[in-house]
Amino acid sequence: MSSTTKNTVAILLATVTLLSAAPSALLSADEKHVSVYSPVAIYTLPVLDRAGREYVGLLELLEPLGRVSTQSEGRRWRLRYNAVDAEFVAGSTRARIHGRDFDFNAPFLLENSRGLVPLSSLSGFLPRFLGAPVNFRESARRLFVGDVGIQISFQLDPSNPPHLAVNFSAPVNPTISTEPGKLRMVFKRDPVVSPGSQSISFDNQVITHASYSENDGDAELDLAGNEPLLASFSNDRRTIIVSAVPQTAAAPNVVGTGPQNPTQTPPPSAPGANIPSGNANNNMNNNVHRVLAIVDPAHGGEERGAALTDKLAEKDVTLGFARLLRHELDIRGFAVVLLRDGDTTSTLDQRAAAANVLRAGIYISLHAVAQGSGARVYTALLPVEGTSKGVFHSWNAAQSPSLPVSRIVSAAIVAEMQKREFPAQGSSAALRPLNNVFMPAVAVELAPGASGVADLTSANYQQRAASAIANAVASVRDRLGVQQ
Ligand SMILES: [Zn+2]
Repeated sequence: MSSTTKNTVAILLATVTLLSAAPSALLSADEKHVSVYSPVAIYTLPVLDRAGREYVGLLELLEPLGRVSTQSEGRRWRLRYNAVDAEFVAGSTRARIHGRDFDFNAPFLLENSRGLVPLSSLSGFLPRFLGAPVNFRESARRLFVGDVGIQISFQLDPSNPPHLAVNFSAPVNPTISTEPGKLRMVFKRDPVVSPGSQSISFDNQVITHASYSENDGDAELDLAGNEPLLASFSNDRRTIIVSAVPQTAAAPNVVGTGPQNPTQTPPPSAPGANIPSGNANNNMNNNVHRVLAIVDPAHGGEERGAALTDKLAEKDVTLGFARLLRHELDIRGFAVVLLRDGDTTSTLDQRAAAANVLRAGIYISLHAVAQGSGARVYTALLPVEGTSKGVFHSWNAAQSPSLPVSRIVSAAIVAEMQKREFPAQGSSAALRPLNNVFMPAVAVELAPGASGVADLTSANYQQRAASAIANAVASVRDRLGVQQ
């Protein structure tokens, strides 16, 4: 199977999202944070509300930056940070730091020997401890120690389709999420600073503008567009390329539910998916709901997959098998899209993104192996994570809501194959891109039968498998579709 995972590429789609609330609203809503960015450490601390003021623990604030010790004695609290001594008094606004008085704009608090200082005084007194300039952006609760800010700049390539390079002066690792017309990057640990303006317009029809904001220790950069946008990292995570979803994937109304334009066909230059316009026409004429099935011949192009024999590459077997399966599904009334209908290269993220944009009823990935016999049908093995809140699922767990139906599909395929005396077993595996697909999704791995590896290129053998898969999928047709 040898699926290649390109960890450096993360692609997210703008149309897919089921967000009804901003991600931040799904996090612990009542807990405030301050983010600290320094050359030696980047961290987040809880912010405490006391008498209408915001406070932070001073020991926790300084500990990641140097050697700290504290000592409390009644209402007095002494702290030593590296070679700087300070003394605070509970309830008093005056402290002595490095031999000089300092006046807080709210009283110092002592709770269980823990010294709390008002956030609003940080930029005043911290330089005395740190010996470095401090920039505290109080409304956003982001504290910059020294010259650590990461600059953002934009570079638009207006060619068709347009690409926007969002460049950063250092590597970044934002959380990227999407909702219709918007691609949102949230920087929790990256000291990015405003690109100079809250909102930047691009003179472009597809990617229209960027807006920057800061809140509760996070920075956020939103890209807005008139088409579904996707993002991919490049340049060692110093650049995020934002572009429209490839046209083949962004043309769901050619296939499915939207208004049909009989003259509209995918551009010949479009790589990958082959949109069967004939099926779409049938759909129109019969006015019958045709479930869309995505068939994904794994590997392709530069990525050959497993070497099944000296000469036979997995990518070629999966393509032939996919074409047979397309036919079998088509005659059972499915609309079918092959994610590649030639020897083209796509990443796993691109495959999942294309399936998600098309909001298909079922996604079927095809692999082939030289060992074993018959077929193995996989469903996703999702990474263990906390209970997902609401309808938001991370990219790596997009499959989660559909997994029960995926297992029904898998069981139906295994049963149908066994009924036809085609050896088959079901399994779950951390097999991408299954976990990134938010509709029912299975991967079928074809292994040789009694005739050995020659079976893998046998149309007859492939046909038996394809027919069983299509029958099984048709038998659970009513269960298919995006689960929420
Ligand atoms: Zn494979």
